[in-house]
Amino acid sequence: MSEKVDNGKTILIVDDEPDILNLTSKFLTLGHYNIITCNNGKEAIKILEDKSDKIDLILLDVMMPGIDGYTVLDRIKTDDEYKDIIVVLFTVKSFNEDIQKGKRLGADFYLTKPFSGKELLRKVDSILSEK
Ligand SMILES: [Mg+2]
Repeated sequence: MSEKVDNGKTILIVDDEPDILNLTSKFLTLGHYNIITCNNGKEAIKILEDKSDKIDLILLDVMMPGIDGYTVLDRIKTDDEYKDIIVVLFTVKSFNEDIQKGKRLGADFYLTKPFSGKELLRKVDSILSEK
């Protein structure tokens, strides 16, 4: 039986692009995080309702069909049960408005797309090591 390597921290990744989910999961697994993924805002909110107490950090895409990242962010930061979960918003470089709007809605950190897996892992490690 193999022993599961696990650093005890759980990250929810929400993005509608399969490539991003694959890249982020792969690198965060290398960092021994527990990973939950989903590709839309509706499911993200459902996962929060089911297991928000187990989630340490959310990587959240802004641009998604249906319920977008801003709506999910607003839901998290206006609910006492969820508001302490760290949210890292995926933004697009040229969209400064994304960052401004994200700030207003209470995003904790930003990561500009495109990013490398190493960059992501470094960022997440530094955020969660200060927690
Ligand atoms: Mg997207």
